[in-house]
Amino acid sequence: MSTPFILNADLHCHSVVSDGTLTPETLALRAFENGVHLWALTDHDELGGQERAACAARDLGMDYLSGVEISVTWMGHTIHIVGLGIDAAHIGILEGLRRTRDGRQNRAKMMAEQLAKAGIAGSYEGALLYAGNPELISRTHFARFLVEQGVCRDTDQVFKNYLVEHKPGYVPHQWASLDDALAWIKAAGGVAVIAHPGRYKLSAMQLDELFKHFKELGGLAIEVVTGSHSPAQYQIYSKAAEHYGFMASRGSDFHDPQESYIDLGKLPHLPEHLTPVWSVFH
Ligand code: AMP
Ligand code: MN
Ligand code: MN
Ligand code: MN
Repeated sequence: MSTPFILNADLHCHSVVSDGTLTPETLALRAFENGVHLWALTDHDELGGQERAACAARDLGMDYLSGVEISVTWMGHTIHIVGLGIDAAHIGILEGLRRTRDGRQNRAKMMAEQLAKAGIAGSYEGALLYAGNPELISRTHFARFLVEQGVCRDTDQVFKNYLVEHKPGYVPHQWASLDDALAWIKAAGGVAVIAHPGRYKLSAMQLDELFKHFKELGGLAIEVVTGSHSPAQYQIYSKAAEHYGFMASRGSDFHDPQESYIDLGKLPHLPEHLTPVWSVFH
């Protein structure tokens, strides 16, 4: 008996256009060589890599879905919403994302001021050198600079000690609203997915509220198998997808060969009883 075909979809990763270290073309090749059949590049708040990713995938004969990961502030918490299958030239989402990116420069300068007070000089300029896209300077770029400076041994340690709430380099930021993010994705013809629901510091009641609010706004899916979840969380969010009637997504959240814990396409498959989000497109 032949093994049934299981589509290897990886619908979440980052390039140099946001906080990844590889170009869209290099990522496409890596995904292809790792056996990915359907791929999406989902840079933070930015569609600048979409055409390159789509062309590279097409040249390799790999299916592609356009993607983005939108930073959202919901009830005071930062939540990430992935949009898939959007029209990357849609003016509404382009304008919305431009406004979402606005303020990253100022936030970065404030982070650098706080880090300077903690004894770490020159981090704005240092982080900027790591940012492939100056409009998309992120905490990840600061983390790489601080590792280079020998402040911490790896980026995980930098986040833990400097870049999260109550630590010296943390500056709170107001991102897009959940309503706006969903409106942009829907207007651009895409589907919305809650990225790595297990990563948020929400109580069970708050998470329930988030799922319901997202559903009311037309959100279709949640990530179940992601590089940002532990195997135990695959089970938890598989049950949540069933409970709330969400489709399920799968994505490595790959950023960099050294930093990322799971490579492109190298995740466990989705539990069979779930409806994959890509069934909307296939
Ligand atoms: P920003 O959008 O500038 O707040 O940066 C968010 C990015 O930082 C995320 O997309 C992750 O790539 C990275 N990040 C957040 N928390 C951590 C963490 N604890 N360890 C490593 N990377 C993290
Ligand atoms: Mn990131
Ligand atoms: Mn994320
Ligand atoms: Mn991500």
